[in-house]
Amino acid sequence: MSPPEAPLRVLHVAAECFPLLKTGGLADVAGALPVAQRRLGLDARLLLPGHPALREGLHDAVEVARFGPAFGAARVSLLAGALGPAGLPAYLIDAPWLYEREGSPYVGPDGREWSDNHLRFALLGFVAAQLGAGALDPRWSARVVHAHDWHAALAPAYLAAHGAARTGAARSRSVLTVHNLAYQGAFPMDRFAELGLPVWMSGPAGIEFHGELRFLKGGLVLADRITTVSPTYAREILTPAEGHQLDGVLSHRSDALTGIVNGIDDAVWNPAADAALAAAYSAADPAGKAACKAALQRELGLRPAPRTPLLAVVSRLTPQKGLDLLLSALPHWLGKGGQVALLGAGDRPLESAWRAAAQAAPEAVGVRLGYDEALAHRIVAGSDLIGVPSRFEPCGLTQLYGLRYGALPLVHRVGGLADTVTDADEAALRADRATGFAFAGATREALAYAMDRAMALWARPADWARVVRRAMAQDTSWQAPAARYAALYRGLG
Ligand code: ADP
Repeated sequence: MSPPEAPLRVLHVAAECFPLLKTGGLADVAGALPVAQRRLGLDARLLLPGHPALREGLHDAVEVARFGPAFGAARVSLLAGALGPAGLPAYLIDAPWLYEREGSPYVGPDGREWSDNHLRFALLGFVAAQLGAGALDPRWSARVVHAHDWHAALAPAYLAAHGAARTGAARSRSVLTVHNLAYQGAFPMDRFAELGLPVWMSGPAGIEFHGELRFLKGGLVLADRITTVSPTYAREILTPAEGHQLDGVLSHRSDALTGIVNGIDDAVWNPAADAALAAAYSAADPAGKAACKAALQRELGLRPAPRTPLLAVVSRLTPQKGLDLLLSALPHWLGKGGQVALLGAGDRPLESAWRAAAQAAPEAVGVRLGYDEALAHRIVAGSDLIGVPSRFEPCGLTQLYGLRYGALPLVHRVGGLADTVTDADEAALRADRATGFAFAGATREALAYAMDRAMALWARPADWARVVRRAMAQDTSWQAPAARYAALYRGLG
């Protein structure tokens, strides 16, 4: 009998992690994917910078390595422990000079990026490579170092530079996942000397891009495999229109590029057991959703109206998210008798415009500016539709929450939105496959037409209920994506 196979050791590397520190979907993935992979039998762990919110969430911490000065920090120590409510095995880089800063992990109180971000995130990549190669924790190394976004994108570079040399062991393989190609980690070229990387990496075969450093580009050329968060986005980013200048670099590596749609944490997002809600409900027993809607209308000061369709948005307010487009179609929706609830934070002009829209029609438009996790749950549960009119959307999570909570997604047919929502056209309705509404082209007219079709279906309650059932029956969990990543790791040799 052959001995049982040792679990595949994977180190995820990210800059944020739900529920301790979150600015976007990246945190949700970092918090849930390793947990799902552990359920599949992988030895998945997570490496994070020692931001105060993350340090507070690390239990039973022990120091496994100490070194320095490095990357501008007098001393760096690596802590190992159990992170957050899930007790995920995690490593934290304790380097107070670089990470002991409250608030956003990326920008200072003045709203500008920290001037030493190149060092803060180079250290993250460096430690990932060293830990992966077995040079930091005497009891653990990683077969696969899985870096997420530009913050971790130098991990493949440090692996290529030092990884194998230190240990003589088989080189750790690297995977880089792009959660949003728009964010690339650009820095002036003269910072290169501070990174401790071989000189050749300052050229086109490394991190240099058009005369500056781009961390993400370095990862894209040096990682063994590249993934992004949906198959459609994986195709879109090969085009000049959606490639954020990196379409050429990506096209060279298209053989190494795969799209895998994100899941959602079904322990956190479950309408049958969600402590934030006024009432529990499920596909089998949907009655509680009406109570959630009534509670939300009350909470936001909207007219209490069960038969009025309520379209909701939970989003960062940036040009990407298309909420200016939604504003332009708002009179159309309101004119048809609909309501809108929006929870968001971000660009000041968009915040003001939405505040003004709520003031103009307080019984039909409820707006909350800020970040509020519990309200996000109440909004998804209490609404009939989730709007995601993003101009581009690598994966998108809120439409997945909408599916799970029976709030039909109304989305721009791009990226992960195209891959996760089946438009309620006549054929899909007949075949009982429809799960929402998708429009092509980021225009007010296209969005307004999708609204018309949503209104038309709303007027047929039995058909609407059937689409809701189909939506709630979708598998939005991490189980399948986690297995897809595992298969990809195994293919790395
Ligand atoms: P992105 O990562 O581009 O912001 P995603 O849809 O992938 O977009 O993920 C956004 C995540 O952040 C979701 O979990 C969403 O619920 C959450 N979110 C966005 N804005 C807010 C907010 N104002 N309050 C609470 N949660 C928010």
